[in-house]
Amino acid sequence: MADYTKPLPRPEDPELTQPFWDAAKRHELVIPRCRRCNAYFWYPRPACPTCLREDWKWTPVSGRGRLHTFTVVRQPSNPNFEPDVPYAYAIVQLEEGVRMVSNIVDCEIPDGLAVDMPLKASYDDVADEWTLVKFKPA
Ligand SMILES: [Zn+2]
Repeated sequence: MADYTKPLPRPEDPELTQPFWDAAKRHELVIPRCRRCNAYFWYPRPACPTCLREDWKWTPVSGRGRLHTFTVVRQPSNPNFEPDVPYAYAIVQLEEGVRMVSNIVDCEIPDGLAVDMPLKASYDDVADEWTLVKFKPA
């Protein structure tokens, strides 16, 4: 972990998103779910985007989803990502309906990628305080 040289997350609202990072550290995926209308939503924000109530909770989800779309990065803008090319920058649609930006790992890039392929969450412990949620073929 100590040799991780890529940029680490810098949450816009660390207090709001801390439960997500704490769950990732436990290798669990949680996303916001409205207590009023039951909608899941992503990204985290103070109010539910469906009913605008500020009454939601972090909710454990399966971590299963499908590859909505992707691009294969061959020339990263940040040189620290050079050793990873080619890698998949993806939008994953979770079973719960929300879409997250992530990477696809444990997969042949690009030949192993296909839109709509089943995926499951994978947890990358990159630093003591940071675990990144990625996805791998299910
Ligand atoms: Zn709502």
